[in-house]
Amino acid sequence: MRVTVFSTKPYDRRFLDAANAGLRHHLIYLEARLTAETSNLAAGSDAICAFVNDELTAGVLSQLAGQGIRLVALRSAGFNNVDLEAARTEGIAVARVPAYSPHAVAEHTIALMLTLNRKTHRAYNRVREGNFALEGLLGFDLAGKTAGVVGTGKIGEVVCRILAGFGCTVVAHDLHPNPACEGLGVRYVPVAELLSSSDVITLHCPLTPDTHHLIDDASLGLMKRGVMLINTSRGAVIDTRAVVRGLKDGIIGSLGLDVYEEEADLFFEDLSSRFISDDLFARLLTFPNVLITGHQAFFTQEALTSIAETTFANITAFEKTGHALHTVSVEKIARETR
Ligand code: NAD
Repeated sequence: MRVTVFSTKPYDRRFLDAANAGLRHHLIYLEARLTAETSNLAAGSDAICAFVNDELTAGVLSQLAGQGIRLVALRSAGFNNVDLEAARTEGIAVARVPAYSPHAVAEHTIALMLTLNRKTHRAYNRVREGNFALEGLLGFDLAGKTAGVVGTGKIGEVVCRILAGFGCTVVAHDLHPNPACEGLGVRYVPVAELLSSSDVITLHCPLTPDTHHLIDDASLGLMKRGVMLINTSRGAVIDTRAVVRGLKDGIIGSLGLDVYEEEADLFFEDLSSRFISDDLFARLLTFPNVLITGHQAFFTQEALTSIAETTFANITAFEKTGHALHTVSVEKIARETR
């Protein structure tokens, strides 16, 4: 298959080339993000390969269909950036990588928690400057605290396992309780109870109309004062403006983000020689108790290997049978959320 691969960095190409070695799909690598302005770059291909901030809107999908694109192979688990209704209308199949390394994201989540709690990022700088004072570095024991996990699918389950290992009481909320989590002693509770009882809250649900701004002013009003909030799912699961208010009021004691509502214009690029024009993001950076990483939770060797292999498994299956291995469609979502 001839595949135009959007939003690629040198590291993507390394892992994709390795996985394609025996397959010999013809890959056209582009650094550009897929938008209405760049979609014509896919002309002549059978498929496109896209990442988390590529824009697969109705307009873009219509342009891609007009160019003969028959498959969108996502290099991600999340598919909130794809208008699935439009894909169906245009006759474009959509495939994703449903599972690569849940450990990668879960372990990064825990890294954010531990760093925020024990302030190792600040201690690192202090010690390098010969400052061995401890004032300002006080943390708390995670053992004995209540951790609330929203979404206990593949990633949430690993997070529950690690937190249970730390000696936390783990409560969770999900549309479908996960027996493996229940086996760990995780107690499923309504979301309001999770928000009001947790010392640490971590989000692992997909971005859907139901979870959009799940964390807003109303839900902040239920939380314990000084709660730690971690989001490695998708930016728009939290209302960033409400969270900034929560930080200023002291409701949120610390905030760890790997994703941000408007990350498409920021993340994955080196903007260090420019200024940040997003005032809300710039405001977040002013809080000493906020730690942000640029959508790197997935970024391990194991995850990139698995993403590349599953992406080509989807493309090769589509080439041979007309069906990708891991399709995502309106019908499938309706069945799964029933
Ligand atoms: P998954 O499908 O295995 O699990 C998601 C869970 O969320 C499911 O159990 C589902 O029932 C639950 N859920 C759905 N709607 C819910 C709701 N309204 N309330 C509570 N729970 C709800 O997915 P996963 O592999 O665990 O990934 C979770 C999310 O993590 C992805 O959708 C993606 O957005 C994000 N992610 C982020 C990164 C990163 O690098 N930061 C990498 C991979 C995935």
